[in-house]
Amino acid sequence: MMKNLMKSCSMIILSLVFAQTALAQRTIPTDDEQLLYEVYKELIEYKTTMQEENNTIAAEGMAAWLQAAGFAQEDIFIGGALPHKGNLVARYRGTGAKEPIIMMAHLDVVSAERDDWNLDPFVLNEDDDYYYGRGTLDDKAMGAIFLANMIRFKREGYQPNRDLIIALTSDEESGGSNGIGWLLDNRPGLIQGALAINEGGYGLLQDGKPLANTIQIAEKIYATFRVTAKNPGGHSSLPRADNAIYDLAEALLNIRDFKFPVEINDVMRVSFERQAEINTGQRAEDFRALLTYPIPQDALDRLSSEAAINAQLRTTAVATLLDGGHAPNALPQTAVANVNVRMLPGSDPQVVLQTLIDVVDNSEILVEYRGGGSITDPSPLSEEIMSAVETVTQSMWPGVIVMPTMSTGATDGARMRRAGIPTYGTSGLFVDRNDMRIHGQDERLLKESLYNGYKFLYSLVKELSQ
Ligand SMILES: [Zn+2]
Repeated sequence: MMKNLMKSCSMIILSLVFAQTALAQRTIPTDDEQLLYEVYKELIEYKTTMQEENNTIAAEGMAAWLQAAGFAQEDIFIGGALPHKGNLVARYRGTGAKEPIIMMAHLDVVSAERDDWNLDPFVLNEDDDYYYGRGTLDDKAMGAIFLANMIRFKREGYQPNRDLIIALTSDEESGGSNGIGWLLDNRPGLIQGALAINEGGYGLLQDGKPLANTIQIAEKIYATFRVTAKNPGGHSSLPRADNAIYDLAEALLNIRDFKFPVEINDVMRVSFERQAEINTGQRAEDFRALLTYPIPQDALDRLSSEAAINAQLRTTAVATLLDGGHAPNALPQTAVANVNVRMLPGSDPQVVLQTLIDVVDNSEILVEYRGGGSITDPSPLSEEIMSAVETVTQSMWPGVIVMPTMSTGATDGARMRRAGIPTYGTSGLFVDRNDMRIHGQDERLLKESLYNGYKFLYSLVKELSQ
């Protein structure tokens, strides 16, 4: 009891210290890279996991940098659905000749346990080449970069032709409803704009050399389906052929063996063209074959055997959870599986449902759609964004191609697209495509990549606003 009381007292003191740190005055370093480093370090060291709930403290800490740089209080907003899920939105005023640009990043991170890591995940550690810590890549690099760039624009007296809006949200990793979803529903005026720049696009390094700079234009749509087999059951000493567990197993094996048809949208067409350019030999030919009609089966088989490419070609469905039976000595009366589907953009869940019912091919088995993410179309491959990304990419990494991509996972971009704001994932942060540690152990980012990403996004936002 006493021990508990003491523990809660020390936690109160700790949170007071934290709050004061967040509100403390910041001194803006005159060196741009030093400024970025300080913002980045501070952001990494806030434990903004779902368990620790420090998002609002992080939002306040970031707002303190803007205040120190002279941003007006009326241009800084912090708020959200829950006290610990604060979102920061701030505005850099331009001439208003064009609709604003939104620079978005999420403050929250997935959890990281000290014992699972070689280093403390919530201390910015470094060696000669890398920064280490939870969020060093996903997504605090972009958050710190956007913030440091806002301050840099201010210091330089930059006059953009449109407002530049930074939105640092607090709920991306747990679904987005309290973060970007809350802002779109409750403060839509704060984040209204012609386009948004978001996470989801990276530069790809191979053997340390930049290969392509990606721009995420689309995302697959998360959807949950449930498959249920029922049976009257009975005593397990008298087994019969009809059995809820066996029936469900058969249904799931049918789903395993089924492949949704290949559909190549405009974004993926351009992406595969560019994939062909950066690959050689058979692999390059296979990517080129995807652009022909009908697609040769052997090329399709080779590419579909790679999970990452298969997921770009079609909607996928996979069993992820299983539950069945009620006693070790009884025939099961119910067996249930969760099937996680990642639909291509623009898909209709009802059409997917009918497909799964056909694939299961057993009228005794119930297949249900249980909901999912925002149904969105890809953002348009507009001349404005594509030429700006191309221009800056060529000036920084001559000869490196720009490759539009579709993410197989989900980001806050889906909610923005759903709200009618074309959203593009591009960062100029180059990462080794065979060593992505997002959500994993010892997450890290090349130091050089951080500072290059800073220059890339600085130049990109300028390119789009002058
Ligand atoms: Zn992220």
